[in-house]
Amino acid sequence: MGDTVTGMPADTVSVTGWGRTAPTAARLIRPGTYEEAVAAVRDCGARGGIPRGLGRAYGDAAQNAGGSVLDMTGLDRVHVIDAAGGIVLCDAGVSLHRLMEVLLPLGWFVPVTPGTRQVTVGGAIGADIHGKNHHGSGSFSRHVLSLELLTADGGIRTVGRGTPLFDATTGGMGLTGVILTATIQLQPVETSLMSVDTERARDLDELMARLTAGDHRYRYSVAWIDLLARGAATGRGVLTRGDHAPLESVSTRARRNPLAFRTSRFPAAPAFLPEGLLTRTTVGAFNELWYRTAPRARTGELQRISTFFHPLDGVPHWNRIYGRGGFVQYQFVVGHDQEDAVRRIVRRISERRCPSFLAVLKRFGDADPGWLSFPVPGWTLALDIPTGLPGLGALLDELDEEVATAGGRVYLAKDSRLRPELLAAMYPRLDDFRALRAELDPRGVFVSDLSRRLNL
Ligand SMILES: Cc1cc2nc3c(=O)[nH]c(=O)nc-3n(C[C@H](O)[C@H](O)[C@H](O)COP(=O)(O)OP(=O)(O)OC[C@H]3O[C@@H](n4cnc5c(N)ncnc54)[C@H](O)[C@@H]3O)c2cc1C
Repeated sequence: MGDTVTGMPADTVSVTGWGRTAPTAARLIRPGTYEEAVAAVRDCGARGGIPRGLGRAYGDAAQNAGGSVLDMTGLDRVHVIDAAGGIVLCDAGVSLHRLMEVLLPLGWFVPVTPGTRQVTVGGAIGADIHGKNHHGSGSFSRHVLSLELLTADGGIRTVGRGTPLFDATTGGMGLTGVILTATIQLQPVETSLMSVDTERARDLDELMARLTAGDHRYRYSVAWIDLLARGAATGRGVLTRGDHAPLESVSTRARRNPLAFRTSRFPAAPAFLPEGLLTRTTVGAFNELWYRTAPRARTGELQRISTFFHPLDGVPHWNRIYGRGGFVQYQFVVGHDQEDAVRRIVRRISERRCPSFLAVLKRFGDADPGWLSFPVPGWTLALDIPTGLPGLGALLDELDEEVATAGGRVYLAKDSRLRPELLAAMYPRLDDFRALRAELDPRGVFVSDLSRRLNL
């Protein structure tokens, strides 16, 4: 979770997001029972508290300077599995990794997974996460049938779909209360393999055209984009799209145990790599290699679930490769009719020579009702940038303006630096969210660094 801070009480630790920017000190409480969770909320002190899962939000959403942070990973039981109907009832501290271990052998998969399976169900609902299937399956909340929420008064409420509290909580960044359990509808699968098509696109126009023309044929779709390519190659990329492999498509050998959940694990990244390792030159060389070694077009390749969805999970603590300064993840979405805004932003990032190798472009489908839920129909681009890049703050401020002008928004689960004045334009239900919070939590029990910074 973090390092102990000298001179502070023993349970006070330094807490950061996955990007390791802006650490703050907080009292860390890890409830092991619902009663302990209730007691923790009642006792969180003047600076309030915020629930935390596995800390994979990149920014400051799950930290609370000088207050309490409720680490919910101690409540991690899978309570009931309806193996016929594909429904699971579990604690919110269960990770998606654990759900895959338990559910895949039964022929079920999580309905939405982000680029890491090391997130909790609570974090998945709190940020209303999206995956490569958003264009068809929506965000995580679409598959949540109900949840139990521990609110600021210490009460536990069952919250059903279609209620204001459900819509404020899904994407509500932990600010309506602590999700204790969730009932989730799952996705049936015949095997634990993916059938994957890969193709290269020479530039951004070709990449966007192929995504637009072909996404409806795939359950999962995403494009890696080379943000260091310039000139005619600006925005070139590699599309990977696919679906769960049906039983008849896998080898006789794989059919013996078609639902086995296999993962790879490489050595952890060293505690810290020297600053400056990720330069334009090294990242440019990596991107060139990645692009050149991707097949021009390949269909039906069988890949493990872990390879297709979570390649980074194989390297524990990979976030250390950015050095002590950490890195910023920037993710925005703009409407389908705002392709020119995407072109301008990609050109601007390419011209600034940001050493980014984890950059993905994707098309979102219909939005879900969460008031602060990020995905809306359109184009979303996510990229990582080391904090050492000169002029980074000004660059991102400019991008925010461009995104807001185009009617888009940035993703709060990745944010650590957005200016509050842009938030209302990006999230039109913000006032409803604030009003519900004022009524539900008049003393301001639930608070985070993110909520203070953006006045959520
Ligand atoms: C490698 C990587 C890839 C990623 N890819 C994607 C992606 O493809 N799509 C995507 O949407 N996101 C993606 N993310 C972001 C990640 O999915 C979200 O930030 C998610 O919320 C992290 O879950 P967590 O359990 O780590 O929660 P934390 O990071 O600990 O917390 C995130 C938020 O959820 C709230 N929260 C946590 N637990 C609870 C609870 N029990 N009750 C109420 N609120 C709670 C917290 O208060 C906080 O606001 C990625 C992150 C990484 C590191």
